[in-house]
Amino acid sequence: MTTTLLLPGSTSPQGQQITLGVMGGGQLGRMFVHAAQAMGYFTAVLDPDPASPAGRVSHFHIQTAYDDEQGLAQLMQRCDAITTEFENVPAPALLTLGAHRPVAPAAHCVAVAQDRVKEKALFVDCATQSGVTPAPYAAIDTPELLAAVPADLLPGILKTSRLGYDGKGQVRVQTREELAAAWDRLGRVPCVLEKMLPLKAECSVIVARGANGDCVNFPVQRNLHVDGILAVTEVYEENMPQALSEKAVTAAKFIASHLRYVGVLCVEFFIVDDGSPDGALVVNEMAPRPHNSGHYTQNASTVSQFELQVRAMTGLPLVQPRMHSAAIMLNLLGDLWFTAEGQQRTPAWDHVLALPGTHLHLYGKLDARVGRKMGHLNITAATPAQAKATALQACQCLGLPAF
Ligand code: ADP
Ligand code: MG
Repeated sequence: MTTTLLLPGSTSPQGQQITLGVMGGGQLGRMFVHAAQAMGYFTAVLDPDPASPAGRVSHFHIQTAYDDEQGLAQLMQRCDAITTEFENVPAPALLTLGAHRPVAPAAHCVAVAQDRVKEKALFVDCATQSGVTPAPYAAIDTPELLAAVPADLLPGILKTSRLGYDGKGQVRVQTREELAAAWDRLGRVPCVLEKMLPLKAECSVIVARGANGDCVNFPVQRNLHVDGILAVTEVYEENMPQALSEKAVTAAKFIASHLRYVGVLCVEFFIVDDGSPDGALVVNEMAPRPHNSGHYTQNASTVSQFELQVRAMTGLPLVQPRMHSAAIMLNLLGDLWFTAEGQQRTPAWDHVLALPGTHLHLYGKLDARVGRKMGHLNITAATPAQAKATALQACQCLGLPAF
């Protein structure tokens, strides 16, 4: 079903409060729920985990599997529009929902982002008009394709086509022997082998597109990953060469319009060292939802990525966001909840929050584990230099490495 205007705080023809649903109850769902509720919508979350971060704060929490027919029926009965907070929601479930309710983004968009082979083929299809290409790659799902891999893709990174995230489901390989062993190790599931590129930096662009084709964007986010997980996002005007920023925004908007995308979309890019002063832009992957690299928008922008998701799925106007502060986001992983001796502790938030322009967001996860995303710290300041100085102080308080 297509998006219709759902005004905040209104009631449906059946006399029910307008309710927005989200498939998935993780931190992204939680922040979506917070944004929707702040605007006066009721919310429903479908997630099997009774302790899911979003389920705990939503008006309704349907605790079934994502493909459970009764759970999906309940969600449809409750909700006037539905979105998703993670890309591994089964696409058939979104198709079922989409037959009866507006679903943004649509199943076909999520299906592409779920599958690296399809995603790369999309980027190749778009290349002429988007102005960016993906890293050289080969799809591997048979021993014949494995044997036929061109030599110039090595050294490379073998990535499972589905279900990879935060560097999981990836193996770096130097030789054909290592490639064959890595494919065995990954269970011979469909994969892509990507040529290893010399990265100068990484960045992402978040756009929000409405059903009427209006499309707005946040500025380019410069991202630092550690061990395959996002660690730091920096956003201010000089964080990237202007020409690259413009190119990245144009590409992300083109990809969204090509997919007739509705909702918030994040496109990730590499800046590859090609000998030129700025480097070359290469498109890496996309996320059909608000993204970790956009969390700074909660505190540094006139509108957050979560509010834009709400606006896009309810047919409300999309306004071009304006940054009012330089911003840095630090991801807070479960590692911070342990001392060097492995004792559990609570990080010294009182010290961190004594720093000017710090905004703490914790996801309500009760058990900290190493590598688990527990929250993030947004730092806003009048200038990039001030944001950086405060961020470095925060790192010191928390025992995070300087960046
Ligand atoms: P994930 O789904 O886990 O985020 P990515 O494809 O984004 O998977 O890879 C994770 C990280 O690994 C990237 O952010 C980048 O730092 C590194 N990486 C991935 N592909 C390449 C490549 N072709 N060349 C160099 N580094 C890469
Ligand atoms: Mg990535």
